[in-house]
Amino acid sequence: MQRLASSRIGSRATHQFASTRGPRTARETVAATPIRVLRAVEEVRRWRRPHMMNHRSVGLVPTMGALHEGHLALIRAAARENHHVVVSIYVNPAQFGVGEDLASYPVTWDADTAALARLDRELADDGGNLGRISAVFAPTTPEMYPSGFPGQAVDSKGSFVTITPVAEVLEGASRPTFFRGVATVCMKLLNIVQPERVYFGQKDVQQTVVIRRMVQDLMVPAQVVVCPTRREQDGLAMASRNVYLGTRRRQVGLALISALRAAENAYRGGETTRRVAILGAAHAACEAVLGAQRGLKPSERALFEIDYISLADPDSLQEVDTVDLSKGAVLSGALKMLPVEDPQEGEDLGHSDGPPVRLIDNIMLPPKSS
Ligand code: AMP
Repeated sequence: MQRLASSRIGSRATHQFASTRGPRTARETVAATPIRVLRAVEEVRRWRRPHMMNHRSVGLVPTMGALHEGHLALIRAAARENHHVVVSIYVNPAQFGVGEDLASYPVTWDADTAALARLDRELADDGGNLGRISAVFAPTTPEMYPSGFPGQAVDSKGSFVTITPVAEVLEGASRPTFFRGVATVCMKLLNIVQPERVYFGQKDVQQTVVIRRMVQDLMVPAQVVVCPTRREQDGLAMASRNVYLGTRRRQVGLALISALRAAENAYRGGETTRRVAILGAAHAACEAVLGAQRGLKPSERALFEIDYISLADPDSLQEVDTVDLSKGAVLSGALKMLPVEDPQEGEDLGHSDGPPVRLIDNIMLPPKSS
């Protein structure tokens, strides 16, 4: 695969290469931003070296693109605390199981770069930031897997990072190769960019636990920063995969956060630390939504399956029977939204005609002082 030359967001490829005066001219003529687009590991290293020498800090925000406000909030946090922000955009095939949605995962490069350009202008106008978006790292798979892509199967052989047992429960139980792919790609990104800080969203709570454990146990010299979950107005956690939902399932998908909030209320207001009481509230809320949907006609309803609703220790993610008040707990859940039955003429079914969608969300139950 041909490697793309280092280019800048806001400059169009046609302008870059058509002009006899070369890419610099294009930067002058197209809504320019100073954001570099880096495709090769060596380009990142070359960019990073002088900042290392000059003690300029770098914050890394790893993403798979299809950027939304959740991603942008991580970038804002990174810009507040670092001289330079590097955003990686890479749909890592190793974290998709065989048969998962790798082929249809939303790729929205033009919208992503436009959003980054807008955000960078916002960062420039806000004097409270230490840095701005200096570079987007958007590598190819051959670049990221120099010995060849090892494959997505559970028994694939290759250079993987595995973090057990925290990666084996919850999401890992349903998606056995997911955290192996996540930990491996994050380790690569950390080694390539060598950031002082790396930013993750609370939305993917197990990912934050896996990455913290990896950074601690493998002595990675970076600080892991976790930022709050960004939600739509009605409470749905923002996620790139929400585009698959379509209108009918989008509404019913709120069952997950409603269930987690019911469980949170049982803990906070109900003065209980018992699993049966806390998770009982969540299951009751979910069953109420599901029962109401089942009562509707197939042309109107959206059904889902509960994969898990969990009450777990915040460090080990092992299930707990009672919440340790000195630590609190992680309340998390996953629902599988099933494809709608009997789709109606002209109905918005979502991206790729509305395949099954896995929704995940979580709420941290805080420690309570005795
Ligand atoms: P992704 O592109 O889905 O791999 O996500 C990249 C990063 O954005 C991860 O650290 C996610 O946890 C984070 N993220 C995704 N959705 C949200 C959200 N709604 N709020 C905060 N962070 C998020």
